[in-house]
Amino acid sequence: MRTRAEALLSRFYGYHSFRPGQFDVIEAVASGRDAVVIMPTGGGKSICYQIPALMASEGCALVVSPLIALMQDQTQGLIANGIPAAALHSNQNEGDNRSIMEAAAAGKIKLLYVSPERLLADIDWFSRIKVSLFAIDEAHCISQWGHDFRPVYTELSKVKETFPGVPVMALTATADRLTRSDIIAQLHLTDPYCLLSSFDRPNISLSVYANPGARQRNQFIVRLAQKYPQDSGIVYCLSRKGAEEATAALSALGLRAVCYHAGMSPNARDASLRTFLAGRAQVVCATVAFGMGIDKSNIRWVVHVNMPGNIESYYQEIGRAGRDGLPAEAVLFYSLQDVILRRNFAEESGQPLVNKEKLRRMQEYAEARVCRRRILLSYFSEERLCDCGNCDNCRRPPQRFDGSVLAQKALSGVMRTGMKAGIRMLIGILRGVSRFDIRNAGYDRLPTFGCGSDLSEEEWLDYITQMVQLGAMEIAYEDANHLRPTPMGLRVLRGEEKLVLSLYTGTAEMRKTKKAKGREVSSDPVQQLFEQLKAVRADVARMQNVPPYIVFTDAALLDMAKRKPTTLTDFLAVSGVGEVKGVRYGKRFISEIRKFTGLSATERGATYRETLVLFNAGCSVAEIAQTKNIRESTVYAHFANLIDNGLITAFHRIISADDYRAISAELDNGAPGVFEKLNGRYPSGLVDVVNAIKRAVARKKGES
Ligand code: ADP
Ligand code: ZN
Repeated sequence: MRTRAEALLSRFYGYHSFRPGQFDVIEAVASGRDAVVIMPTGGGKSICYQIPALMASEGCALVVSPLIALMQDQTQGLIANGIPAAALHSNQNEGDNRSIMEAAAAGKIKLLYVSPERLLADIDWFSRIKVSLFAIDEAHCISQWGHDFRPVYTELSKVKETFPGVPVMALTATADRLTRSDIIAQLHLTDPYCLLSSFDRPNISLSVYANPGARQRNQFIVRLAQKYPQDSGIVYCLSRKGAEEATAALSALGLRAVCYHAGMSPNARDASLRTFLAGRAQVVCATVAFGMGIDKSNIRWVVHVNMPGNIESYYQEIGRAGRDGLPAEAVLFYSLQDVILRRNFAEESGQPLVNKEKLRRMQEYAEARVCRRRILLSYFSEERLCDCGNCDNCRRPPQRFDGSVLAQKALSGVMRTGMKAGIRMLIGILRGVSRFDIRNAGYDRLPTFGCGSDLSEEEWLDYITQMVQLGAMEIAYEDANHLRPTPMGLRVLRGEEKLVLSLYTGTAEMRKTKKAKGREVSSDPVQQLFEQLKAVRADVARMQNVPPYIVFTDAALLDMAKRKPTTLTDFLAVSGVGEVKGVRYGKRFISEIRKFTGLSATERGATYRETLVLFNAGCSVAEIAQTKNIRESTVYAHFANLIDNGLITAFHRIISADDYRAISAELDNGAPGVFEKLNGRYPSGLVDVVNAIKRAVARKKGES
């Protein structure tokens, strides 16, 4: 079974091996067992159900998916790989939907994506066709414990009832324990094979910046975008308004930015999505409404302008970056303001206790001074014994200093106002800002007024944030978010206890990204070719009217740039180049590489070899003609040539024995005009093939 699965992986996807765990799930499902697949975003879940769907000798795999954009993206990707797939959804006219259903019933579609609503509405109809397996994508939507509960998902328990013998797989990127067991219970899975793969995404670097201002934030994002000029990023904002403002601000700074949130009209939203997926926007400023199932492999960075309410959401959102496995960046901007806001949300949610606890864990992550990846992985119950080396805390461990005096200044400010100051007010007092609200309250006459004027507003914000984190001060959420000292804070104030703080580096670190700005053309040849191949890809994508990553992922282009294949055979060895794509796009890319390496642009005999590759992959004459965009008679001419060169021997796949005998006999007869007569009766070019076969047979006889 393994060989067969690997052959399909190589033929359709161009990958050489399975990732850890993938084959085990495939094997389980292909032998009829239910399965639960929990893998981080980008881990390679799709292949876990797509390969079993291809292995099934008959029937169609039904993939339940919550979002139309996601279905379209997946089907487009499959079709580009030469796999018959389609989607049923409400954005398509009913006529199209009907003909797709007929095609599925006739066994012409291997993978059919459906919305849960559609599946449930037509479940009787589906029960009458041959279904090879069910894949329930984004399965966490079934659970109230999950962060994205969708009531319609709970009705999917009907699947197991209606299709008792058909294996059901549940797939999700959300791993918490409660959600997991909920999925199994609600879908009535029987003894499912469970794949819980590592959640580590080591290629995503993690950093957090506390309290940047809006200007700083925007400039930071611009620098990030400039660092990856060919790729794109996502800016997540808490509110629709925030997303709109960010779009406007970043556009004003010269970025090609689009906006995406649930308050926009479906048309406007769709336009944003298309622009982004097609690579015509560098950044999408969005609320969390954006992104589920976005399989755009060249998202290089994700910035959270506001802190999410829980680690699951955060991890899923940053997981959209770097799905190709190449280096990517996740940046979180954090402020106590966000914590206050999120707390209010949690308080007003249906489950305040659960949500406040989840928020606390998220806050701990944001405030951490230790390896951030360890925190994330431990949240998903994954053990990790060493630091990752790819987060801000690992890269530059914070410098500590005795911050007792600073803390005393702040704490005494808090005491002097009678615990009636919020963070901004306290900073104003410490820095001696003559502001109306401060003067009005008489705080400009306090002895602490101006005692901290040597520090900037950002520095104070950082140190006060740390004091709250360390438990020297707390925010009185119930009292207008005023600050107040804790018992530990009082001890610090009295000089009975020391408070060690981390040296503020915020803006200096943020500015560092600047160095990447204006990178000149790389002198590394691999990088250079990589950029050139990206340009070819952009052109091919434009001509085919598909997003660039549907043509080839960045990872595939990089492998191409490293291997520099100059023949079709070598081209097919590139990771991510399956047979259909190899033949469809090979010529363009190979000729670019040949030029780059100083060879003439075309490989001799390439077109024959392309035909041979497709023939060996089992394609029919019509399929070969379509893939290569040539006439069928030309395909036959290629066959004749390949037969003459001894490269095709499976003649029966080209012509039936009866036809061969009939044509052969008439040719031997040699009546005048026989050639024209036969050519009128049989597909043009087939007679040449018969002649070639006759020559091959004669050679064979001669040999023996
Ligand atoms: P998920 O659905 O888990 O978020 P995908 O199925 O979209 O992830 O896979 C993420 C990326 O990894 C895709 O570009 C996919 O083609 C690639 N991929 C999956 N399996 C393999 C493999 N065995 N070898 C190489 N690349 C793979
Ligand atoms: Zn780390």
